[in-house]
Amino acid sequence: MHPPCLPCASGPKGSAGHDGLNVHKIGDGRLMLRCRACQSSWCRTLAKNGSFAWAMLTKRRAASAEMGIPVPPLSLASERRGLPWRGENFARTARGA
Ligand SMILES: [Zn+2]
Repeated sequence: MHPPCLPCASGPKGSAGHDGLNVHKIGDGRLMLRCRACQSSWCRTLAKNGSFAWAMLTKRRAASAEMGIPVPPLSLASERRGLPWRGENFARTARGA
């Protein structure tokens, strides 16, 4: 496993975590995000007090079905394509999905 990058080592915060994180899977009440800098996988859930709770995942845990459904197109491991809801990729992604 890669050593975590600085933002991962200090821990993701808020709703987006940090700039290097991309949504990778959507699960039941949780999101799995992966850091494009250090490949760390994170699980984001909602804490009882309404804030976001972040937990780093092992590779095995990140690959498990319990983490949810992979989000296209990031499941294809292409870093050049943005998230489906981030603008210019939307139309193409929606057709291909
Ligand atoms: Zn990182």
